[in-house]
Amino acid sequence: MTPYMQMWMRSAAGRESLRKSRERYRATEKGRVAMRKANAQHRIDNPDKAIARHAIQNAIRDGKIMRPTTCSVCGCVRKVESHHPDYTKPFEVVWVCRPCHRDIHRGEKE
Ligand SMILES: [Zn+2]
Ligand SMILES: [Zn+2]
Repeated sequence: MTPYMQMWMRSAAGRESLRKSRERYRATEKGRVAMRKANAQHRIDNPDKAIARHAIQNAIRDGKIMRPTTCSVCGCVRKVESHHPDYTKPFEVVWVCRPCHRDIHRGEKE
């Protein structure tokens, strides 16, 4: 990939157009099959992750855990998501908003 391509992909317009083409692909039969396969593979590759997420979902449903309304990273009030710093400890979660959550995972990769 050229540096220009990379820059474009990081720009808002680039991301939007990538998202759109991904959406179009997902709407096709081929795309749906590929997505199902990827999801299944993801679960095989990340069993801890799937178990951890399930544990939290069940705990919330059963009222064992309260989902807070503020992000523990930036403190904003909005819908927060559970983040597992360690997937082998399903009940140790941090609650973060979507943008912060994305940043956390982006940081992990780099
Ligand atoms: Zn946040
Ligand atoms: Zn996370």
